[in-house]
Amino acid sequence: PVVTRFAPSPTGFLHIGGARTALFNWLYARHFGGKALLRIEDTDRARSTQEAIDAILDGLNWLGFDYDEAPVFQSAQAERHAEVAHKLLDAGFAYKCFATAEELEAMRAEQRANKQPMRYDGRWRDRDPAEAPEGAPYVVRLKTPTSGETVIEDAVQGRVKVKNVEIDDYILLRSDGTPTYMLAVVVDDHDMGVTHVIRGDDHLNNAFRQLPIYKAMQEIEGGWEEPVYAHIPLIHGADGAKLSKRHGAMGVDAYRDELGLLPEAVVNYLLRLGWGHGDQEFFTIDEAIEVFDLPAVGKSASRFDFKKLASMNGQYIREADDARLAQLTAPRIAKLEPAFGADKHIALLTQAMPSLKARAKDLDELAAGALFLFRQRPLPMDEKAEKLLTEDARALLGKISEKLKAGSDWTSEQLETELKAMAEERELGLGKLAQPLRAALTGQATSPGIFDVLVLLGREESLARIDAQAT
Ligand code: GLU
Repeated sequence: PVVTRFAPSPTGFLHIGGARTALFNWLYARHFGGKALLRIEDTDRARSTQEAIDAILDGLNWLGFDYDEAPVFQSAQAERHAEVAHKLLDAGFAYKCFATAEELEAMRAEQRANKQPMRYDGRWRDRDPAEAPEGAPYVVRLKTPTSGETVIEDAVQGRVKVKNVEIDDYILLRSDGTPTYMLAVVVDDHDMGVTHVIRGDDHLNNAFRQLPIYKAMQEIEGGWEEPVYAHIPLIHGADGAKLSKRHGAMGVDAYRDELGLLPEAVVNYLLRLGWGHGDQEFFTIDEAIEVFDLPAVGKSASRFDFKKLASMNGQYIREADDARLAQLTAPRIAKLEPAFGADKHIALLTQAMPSLKARAKDLDELAAGALFLFRQRPLPMDEKAEKLLTEDARALLGKISEKLKAGSDWTSEQLETELKAMAEERELGLGKLAQPLRAALTGQATSPGIFDVLVLLGREESLARIDAQAT
């Protein structure tokens, strides 16, 4: 069975690259009917914060990823990590290194001077620990192979290899007995039964260093099969440069709160960022689960494109349920218009949604488009609306008012019939009537269709707004 994990370090928000890694792991597990797991890599105690943990959990939840077990906190496993280090030590796959900080500094200085790669030279690898001074502090280092090469058949990158001389005898346990990140990842992945490690390709180098632990433990006790690795290319900005905040490297919470995007749009966008299925752009989550696989993940970095994300979001808004959109938009309207009360206005907002959502790309645009419905008289006029209200236009509004007051029904059909008849009588296009009418009713030069506007505002409010501008 397939077991994947998403393993964020809670040193900051859940950024967009992390969200995509989480998505790919989650989809892969769901595709194969396996398990999706979550591990919080909080071993860097100084930089990990509860706030970041909460933001990550909140972000994953918003995106709709559920996990099959409670999250594993890496810091809670430290004893187990040390236990494995000691097994490696006892079996001769690791050794104690007593080199002092000064000694290592001198070693590096010499390497630098000789233009050699700076890495630990294995000076304690074959030495007898008894040579060390009594009670001297030590670290535990992995005895990595010194000849041959390590090959990874990466599910995304293909066959990648590194000469073993390039892999240093890195530290497993620090002198205070705490595990290093490199050890912790391998032990946790093994203990959680992880079969597929899907992560950013900035971790590819780590994979070469992590594999020898699997190989050694496999020899020692068996049951340590190497996972399948899938290192996915990073996300770049639209200009090809490393992703920065300007490019969208913000927390997922900002996509929700600041940009007003829908989670299903963000997920769909992330899915298409570096993965493809023919030329299909839109996927429901069930479709994504059905067709997602690793071979279709591209090998080169993908470019983050805000415009595409925004237009995708617009599509999702048009498909979204009206009541849900009204709930999501209400707090944004309340911020802009004190007269708005969610309790008393949510029904009207829901009713208006079909016409509002036809033209909005995000929740802020929906809120801005809805404002006219909730504004108090005297209605503020924007500049373009003001321009439409010429002397002639105001006189025309007077006639429109008379005509509408005489009408019986206030339905879209009835209003349309009356206004069309009026336009014909006066040998005017309907637009000539609609423009000043729209300005009077909404204070803007653009709005949903004029008959929708009249119906949403209702007879009394519509006539009052028209009369306020009419002469
Ligand atoms: N905690 C690491 C990170 O946030 C991921 C480690 C891994 O996936 O192996 O970059």
